[in-house]
Amino acid sequence: MPKRITALTYLIPFLFCLSPAWAAAAHPDPVTVIRAGKLIDVEAARVLSNQIILVRDGKIQAVGDNVQVPADAHVIDLSSMTVLPGLVDCHTHLADLANAEPLTLLRMSAAETAYAAIPNARVTLLAGFTTVRDVGVYRAFNDVAMRDAIAKGIIIGPRMYVAGAYITISEGAGAMTGLAPDIQLPLDFHYGEANSPWEVRQRIRELAHRGADHIKILTTGAVLTHGSNPKSVEFTPEEIDAAVDEARNFGLRVEAHAHAPEGIKNAIRAGVASVEHATLIDDEGIALAKKHGTYLDMDIYDEECIQSSPDTPADFLAHDRDLAEAQRRNFTKAVKAGVKMTFGTDAGVCPHGINARQFAFMVKYGMTPMQAIQAATVNAADLIGHSELFGSIKAGKSADIIAVQGDPLANIRVLEDVSFVMKEGTVYKQDGHPVGAAL
Ligand SMILES: [Zn+2]
Repeated sequence: MPKRITALTYLIPFLFCLSPAWAAAAHPDPVTVIRAGKLIDVEAARVLSNQIILVRDGKIQAVGDNVQVPADAHVIDLSSMTVLPGLVDCHTHLADLANAEPLTLLRMSAAETAYAAIPNARVTLLAGFTTVRDVGVYRAFNDVAMRDAIAKGIIIGPRMYVAGAYITISEGAGAMTGLAPDIQLPLDFHYGEANSPWEVRQRIRELAHRGADHIKILTTGAVLTHGSNPKSVEFTPEEIDAAVDEARNFGLRVEAHAHAPEGIKNAIRAGVASVEHATLIDDEGIALAKKHGTYLDMDIYDEECIQSSPDTPADFLAHDRDLAEAQRRNFTKAVKAGVKMTFGTDAGVCPHGINARQFAFMVKYGMTPMQAIQAATVNAADLIGHSELFGSIKAGKSADIIAVQGDPLANIRVLEDVSFVMKEGTVYKQDGHPVGAAL
């Protein structure tokens, strides 16, 4: 067959010239050396000076103050900065609209929603979050598609671990509520609804085979759901037990959305990996979390966004008002008790890309700056189950590395303005500006 020369054949070299981003993503420098003035060793909770990080094929090959620098290495000088592992947000909703009113989605096609969500992923990465655990989406599997598009380099964003859908009771906290009773939603809007242990198992079997990385179950009512009462319990202990057991069969962990104390305790007793929000956790719940080694993933900074957004429906405001302060008080109690904690913001409630603002709240309500950073690095990697891949700057791990001006241990707010972002060895931000594929 004769070789066909098409316009695209001629265009390909130009595309690569014009778009160094794609070229960079496809062919990362073989060896990159980062000179780190200060490096936060999150595992040992200490700060190291004048470190050299050797990056090859997207992985960290060596770290230390005495690493041999190859002659042909591409050197990135961060000697005036503080270098940290890429941050991890354990509670995001990247594949949905950043809009407080879920019913807005009914005016959009699935494709329209997916395209509208692309910037959510981009700004999250540029804010220094190289990994997220994304904990649910109203249109089932939009998050699976986004995760895969990022992994293939079609769009840019953090490495995503996704839930696929919400496991929720009918008309529950993860359901699309507020519709007239005779409106029937398409399947993708109620994919995860289940009303018995066996229905829970069926949903989880389907999600496991269709791309979910973990399972999100909602065991109490919600703040941001029409007709919901955050203080009500959803699902029976039998149903939650079934969820954790079935997920375990597929090697998946379960996270439970829960505000009310009984819903929190039902989830912990069932063996979930984390409780999301944990708003009204009581002393017994704190003791149980400690005993079971359950992570609490408490989004303590988004109250202002909920109350100040012009889009927030009035019933959501009423749900939220009396809960926010209680959640912050309980966060302080849990930190004091030594419960395992992760960093999770519920991004999408506040605009995507300002996730790091939560650090200051975590410090204000009881953590040391080092503990807050550990929550978003080592602890997050442990919760997600991939400590071998990310969460610290160690040989063998993915080269997910960020840098900031100043000392985050003295002023945690410097994390709100990340200067440098590398994910899997590719640089997306340098000197505070997007570069390469992020342009
Ligand atoms: Zn959420």
